[in-house]
Formats: sequence, C-alpha cells, structure tokens
Amino acid sequence: MSEKKKLVEIRHLKKYFKVNDASYKGLRRRTNTLKAVDDVSFDIYEGETFGLVGESGCGKTTLGRTVIRLYDPTDGEIIFEGTDISKLTSKELSTYRKDMHMIFQDPYASLDPRMTVSEIIMEAMPNDDSLSTEDRRQRVLELLDLVGLNSDHATRYPHEFSGGQRQRVGVARSLAANPKFIVCDEPISALDVSIQAQVVNLLKDLQHKLGLTYLFIAHDLSMVQYISDRVGVMYLGKMVELADSDTLYAHPMHPYTQALMSAIPVPDPDMERSKRRIIVEGEVPSPINPPSGCAFHNRCPRATEKCSQVIPEFKEIDDGHFVACHLFSGNY
Ligand code: SF4
Repeated sequence: MSEKKKLVEIRHLKKYFKVNDASYKGLRRRTNTLKAVDDVSFDIYEGETFGLVGESGCGKTTLGRTVIRLYDPTDGEIIFEGTDISKLTSKELSTYRKDMHMIFQDPYASLDPRMTVSEIIMEAMPNDDSLSTEDRRQRVLELLDLVGLNSDHATRYPHEFSGGQRQRVGVARSLAANPKFIVCDEPISALDVSIQAQVVNLLKDLQHKLGLTYLFIAHDLSMVQYISDRVGVMYLGKMVELADSDTLYAHPMHPYTQALMSAIPVPDPDMERSKRRIIVEGEVPSPINPPSGCAFHNRCPRATEKCSQVIPEFKEIDDGHFVACHLFSGNY
C-alpha cells in the first residue's frame, strides 16, 4: 500500500460548530463549541476504498463533508492531488469540484422531486461550454446504462422509482462530472437489506471500471469490511484506530474497536453463542463538552488514571496500523 499514490491527505483537520447554549436562561444569546471533527489525520490512496465507522454522532459524516469542502474546515489541511484545498475560495475551488462528489444517505430526500432523472444528472455536469446539449443527453444515457438503468428512465421522476433505483440515480448523478473521488455517506442505510448488496456491488464494479477512489461511511461493520481496503474508526470527533480491513477486523487493538467488532453477528449459531461480547456502558458523551484525556475513558473497561488526564497520541504501532490509546504508547 505504501507505494500507492496518495490522492487525499488529511492533516490535523478540525471542524467545529457554534451552537446555542440551551441551558443559558439570560437575555443575550450564548454559544458553545461543538467539536464534530477534532484533529484528524489520515491519507486516502488512489483507487482504494477507505471505510469510516463509528457510532452515530462520532463525526464521520461531518468529516466526509469537510474533506470535499461541503463544509469549510475550522483548521488543518486537505491536500488533494498535492494541493491544499482547505482554504481555497469557492471560485478557486471550482477547478476541483468536478473531481470530488458525494452520494447521499437518503435517496428519497436527495433527489429533487420536480426534476426528471435526465435533468437531475445534467445539473451535476460541468457548467461550461465543453459539452453540447446533445453531448449531455448522450452522457445521461451512458450513465444510466453504467448504473444498471435504461434510457426509458431518463424522462421519469424520482417518485416513479424504488429505493434501490433512486440510489442508482444518485450514483449516476455523482458520476456526471467524471470525478476521481467520491464520498459515499451511508449510501445503503436507507435501503431494504435485499437491495443493499446490489448497490454495494454496483459501487465496487464502478470503482473497477472507472478507477474511482471512495471514502465509504457506514455503521454496518460487515458491509464496510466487505467493500473497504482500509478502515478508520472514529470516536467523538477523533480517529482512534486505522488499519487495513483484514487486520482491523481480525485483530482490533483499541478497546473501543474491540467492543464494536465483538458486536458483529456471526452466521454460525454455535460460534455466535460462544463469542465473547464486550459491552460498552453508557452513551457517547457530548462533543460540546468532551471528557478530558482520552475521550473514551469514562466508558473504557481498561481505563486508568492517566487516561482521564492525557490525550493519547494517534501512533503507528505496526506497519500501517495506527492506534490512539495509552495501552500502546510504551509507557503505560
Ligand atoms: Fe481506554 Fe485509556 Fe486506551 Fe482510552 S487510552 S482507550 S481510556 S485504555
């Protein structure tokens, strides 16, 4: 993996939001800072699928949106093909917009019900003179074919499709500008289980045919393992573990990852019964007022005093295997 070319390099990325302090009863508005993404660094290699997992509210969707500049970062760098795009103005960003796109979670809400499929896909094509109207029509038909739909579907409206077909339209739209990098934000979680595998296999096929690079965000750990080359685990705005998919699922090291992996059901009923499940007590704390030291310390079965005082460094402890935990810092 190390000889592969880095397409995206994330360096100390932060995305904070100002939110109203609901507990404050005074006349003047008071705000708090919500640290949705807090000092995250990792690379995404060209042609790979980087999976991102973690409980709801851990910051994975915000990270995905910030990486492609749908949100402006609070701090840090987003290096895309060697250029830091984190501080570019919208005008400067337009050169890069066509190279990165997003597939949204909800295929029902993300397609404009007043537009035909053809209009939806054309709208995502580059807004310049490089394509004639006829070229655009042809491209719509090519894209529909690529995602397993046909030319008859071009003139229909989103409500005429099933959930799986709508997500195929969403995929066709994401490909309209010929991107290199796609953030797939929970692209299957709103779909029936029977359809989920079809959409994931479609994404895999397209990656193979078009040389795409994916950041695949999901909470279904089995699906992430199936599609991803490497996987990052997030907890409360931070990356706590990162490794290639096989290593992470077979030998998770961070206590939070171990708990997540122990909850994956095994198809064999005997193995499922004998499996040791690690229960993590309590809810994910609020990112407005995160715990001191390691943010997982108040739920971690292996926490010590140091864990509540010192933030663990995100360190490479084996080839390509990164963990943020004092258990692996060498001076625990
Ligand atoms: Fe648990 Fe401490 Fe490691 Fe955090 S640093 S995961 S609290 S052992």
